[in-house]
Amino acid sequence: PISASEHMAPQRICVCVRKRPLNKQEINKKEIDVVSVPGKGTLLVHEPKQKVDLTKYLENQIFHFDYSFDESATNDLVYKFTAKPLVQSIFEGAMATCFAYGQTGSGKTHTMGGDFSGRQQNSAKGIYAFAAQDVFANLNHRKYSHLDLCAYVSFFEIYNGKVYDLLNKKAKLRVLEDERQQVQVVGLEEVYVSSAEEVIKMIQMGSSCRTSGQTSANANSSRSHAILQIALRRNDRASTLHGKFSLVDLAGNERGTDVSSNDRSTLVETAEINRSLLALKECIRSLGMNSDHIPFRMSTLTKVLRDSFIGEKSRTCMIAMVSPGMASCEYTMNTLRYADRVK
Ligand code: ADP
Ligand code: MG
Repeated sequence: PISASEHMAPQRICVCVRKRPLNKQEINKKEIDVVSVPGKGTLLVHEPKQKVDLTKYLENQIFHFDYSFDESATNDLVYKFTAKPLVQSIFEGAMATCFAYGQTGSGKTHTMGGDFSGRQQNSAKGIYAFAAQDVFANLNHRKYSHLDLCAYVSFFEIYNGKVYDLLNKKAKLRVLEDERQQVQVVGLEEVYVSSAEEVIKMIQMGSSCRTSGQTSANANSSRSHAILQIALRRNDRASTLHGKFSLVDLAGNERGTDVSSNDRSTLVETAEINRSLLALKECIRSLGMNSDHIPFRMSTLTKVLRDSFIGEKSRTCMIAMVSPGMASCEYTMNTLRYADRVK
């Protein structure tokens, strides 16, 4: 189910792609699968009805990533090659970030494991749950016991450039930057957690808070970024930050061109999403180039993640999600081009 090199190189930036299977609806509509994973971290978007023959395709339809996952890959497997090394890194003092990127319906929330909408299913375990398990496995391991660390969880969303605390009834919070460029989300809840189950409980609570909007705006979770943070702090007086893992379920990247309504608020929403995703790309690129100038002020998303783009110990993984269907082809190409330029 995976095509990648055997070894997990400890690289700073990892970019992967995951293809989801056709769903029942798409199969009923006889939707054609135009995406395939031929091997070695590659992904191919091909013309419908043609047989997959690599030599026939234009170069720009073949994409290369660190890893590519086909429709048979499980969340467990995706986790092992993407977020798991990052969990390890925060114990070494890193600021790590894992992004789920893609159009609405491509599998971002499924991969992260933040979908608690239906009945609670064990099979729905995603990166959130696996990461939480590994955090506590490490905390209980003697290798790290001398560090005397505790884990804390925050969960918030960014909608239209504003921050809302999902662990505190969607309280609207301010983002401040001090003279030393330290960015703070003022009043953000940081809950002490002592087990993976407690982390999941928090995510469940936050996720239900996320989708239960009172107004029509902000009720659609696909238009906001959800950020889960697991912070490791020393058990000292100042609760010194040791490492932090941010898991980001990004807003859908679909462009405004197809938005059926000319609704002004929708246009503003879309413009804001595009701006933040562009800023994100620029920041990750800067990190990759070891640049001193990180354009983190371009958006609220990159502002709150500032620490993740700076310093020796920053590590990032982006998982680009794609839908397999012909009807999504344009979005799929947009997603792949974006992911291609991140690194
Ligand atoms: P997004 O968060 O990107 O909008 P979702 O994660 O909600 O998309 O996925 C849309 C639908 O497709 C959901 O019903 C989800 O369960 C399903 N789905 C997504 N990825 C997979 C996958 N790899 N395997 C099986 N079902 C998937
Ligand atoms: Mg989603």
